[in-house]
Amino acid sequence: MRNARTFSEIRLVNGSTGDPVLFIDYPGKDDSLLFDGGDNGRLSLTRLGDLAAVFITHHHVDHFVGLDRIVRANMDRDKVLHVFGPANTIAKVYDRINAYEYPYFPFQKIVLRVTEVVPGKLRTGLLECTRRFPEPTVTETPWTGPLLYDSPHLQVEAAFTDHTVPGLAFALVEKVGYHPDPAKLARGTLRAGAWVQEALKRLRAGDPADTRLEIDGGTFSLKTLAEQYFAVSPSTRVTYITDTALSEASRPGLLKLAHKATRLYCDSFYAQAQMKQAQQYRHMTATQAGELAKAAKVDQLILIHFSQRYAGKYEALIDEARAVFPRVSADLDTERHAAGEPGP
Ligand SMILES: [Zn+2]
Ligand SMILES: [Zn+2]
Repeated sequence: MRNARTFSEIRLVNGSTGDPVLFIDYPGKDDSLLFDGGDNGRLSLTRLGDLAAVFITHHHVDHFVGLDRIVRANMDRDKVLHVFGPANTIAKVYDRINAYEYPYFPFQKIVLRVTEVVPGKLRTGLLECTRRFPEPTVTETPWTGPLLYDSPHLQVEAAFTDHTVPGLAFALVEKVGYHPDPAKLARGTLRAGAWVQEALKRLRAGDPADTRLEIDGGTFSLKTLAEQYFAVSPSTRVTYITDTALSEASRPGLLKLAHKATRLYCDSFYAQAQMKQAQQYRHMTATQAGELAKAAKVDQLILIHFSQRYAGKYEALIDEARAVFPRVSADLDTERHAAGEPGP
């Protein structure tokens, strides 16, 4: 069941050869997630305006150049947009916000809640449009990891990478849990009412199955209600690792993030033959991506961030990883489609 997904869309925006950007959407409003802030020109401003949180791995241009469009898409919104990143993210986002002049219309109510992860702590600052973006006051809380972001249905975990600059890798974990099943509710004899939330609260709290609830003059066990009106969604883990060496320093944290992941999106900037360059520029090879996927027992490995030096022979990188781990794929079509070439 680990392959079942509760997100409605998961999209590697620029494929495996462009800036690595992973967009994950849910059916509601203001609830999508974006992993990495590189070129997001293939996502409309409407899609970007649906974001709840952005997770930036590091501040190299191919991972941070898209921040302006994210800010622009959310400027007129009355919401808090969470931005997470490594050391110096608050100052770097603040500098980018400050680079523009604003009309400060009263409907522009965006608040960017920027959190940077440094060893041992989280540092958070608010960038507030209605206050005309004063320099943020930073608050610090202790952090031992991996939990970074917690919402009712999902969590995001983080670990430090080992790149040429401070960086993070992330894992999205959808909570196992009960959800009201609209189809079952439509079929059932009980009409939806306040009892749905009450039963949901008790199911999620793990109350005994024989607990009885009084509804419309009758009594029903939690077990009956769970079977007749609710669905259980299995846990899904989507891990996003890029721009890191697989070193003694990074390996334990990355392994934990990727453990039994439904999908592992993983840096494969180099082929194993370029191990020297991989070490120098602190990237992973396709072989190492395969090794990490195998050690972490993931379901699927998706290779990302191929160096353009392999243009025309990207398949060799997939083959290289597949020699170590069987369930490997990469998206080589996005670029071809953008260039107007027909897909396979
Ligand atoms: Zn990069
Ligand atoms: Zn980088």
